[in-house]
Amino acid sequence: MAPRTLSDPERLRRIHGWLAAAYGPQHWWPAETAFEVILGAYLTQNTSWKAVERSLANLRTAGALSIDGIRKLPAAKLQRLIRPSGFYTRKAPAIRAFVALLDNEFGASLDRLAATPTETLRQRLLALPGVGDETADAILLYALGHPVPVADAYLRRLVERHGLISTKSQDHSATYAALVKLTRDAFSKDPHAKQALLFNEFHALTVAVGKAHCRSRAHCDGCPLAPDLPHAHRDISDQRITIE
Ligand code: SF4
Repeated sequence: MAPRTLSDPERLRRIHGWLAAAYGPQHWWPAETAFEVILGAYLTQNTSWKAVERSLANLRTAGALSIDGIRKLPAAKLQRLIRPSGFYTRKAPAIRAFVALLDNEFGASLDRLAATPTETLRQRLLALPGVGDETADAILLYALGHPVPVADAYLRRLVERHGLISTKSQDHSATYAALVKLTRDAFSKDPHAKQALLFNEFHALTVAVGKAHCRSRAHCDGCPLAPDLPHAHRDISDQRITIE
C-alpha cells in the first residue's frame, strides 16, 4: 500500500519533531522576568538580538529593568538607554504606553493583565502604539503564557521554501494569519494544556534552523529539514529570500 500523503499541518508537525530531535529543548525566551520579555519583544523589532542585549544591559545598569524602573525614567533617558536597538524615538514611547496601560487598567499587575481572555488581550495589545501581530503574540506567549503561535520571518521563509503555503501575498496581515492557522492546525491534536509550551518550542526551533541553515541564502546540506523539501523545491540553495 502506498504511503499516505501528509497534509500541510501534518508536515509542519513532523518538521517540529525533526527540529526538536536535532536541536533539543530551546528554553525560550532568553529573559529573567516576564517584564524583561516584554521589553525584549518591543526592542527586537527590526533589529538583531545582540542590539537588544546592549539596550537591556543599559537598562539593567541604570536600575530600570522593571516596571517601576521604566515608570521613573525620564523619556529622554529611556531613549538614550535603548538607542542600541534602533528606532528609539518610536520604541521608547511605545514601551511607556505599555506601562501606562498596565498602570491605568490593570493595577500595575502583569498577573491581572495575563488573566484577561486571550482574544480580548490580543486586541488590547494591538491597539497600543508600536505593537503589531508578532509583538502582541510574543508578549502573549512568552510573557503571559497564552497558547498563541508566533509567526515571524524565519517561519515565513521556511514555510515558503517548503511549499507549505504561498506567502507571496503583499497583505502582511493575511500572510501572518495564514502562518498562525497552519501552526495551530499542526498542533491541534496535541493536548491543549501543552500547546503554549509547544508553540514556544516550535517558534524557538524555527529560529534555530533559520540561523543555522535557512538564512537569506538556504544552506540545505546537512539541514535536518532537507528530507521534507518537495522535489520541485530541491534546487533551492541559490534562492535568496530577504528576511524583513
Ligand atoms: S535550509 Fe533548506 S532544508 Fe533547511 S529549512 Fe531551509 S529550505 Fe528547508
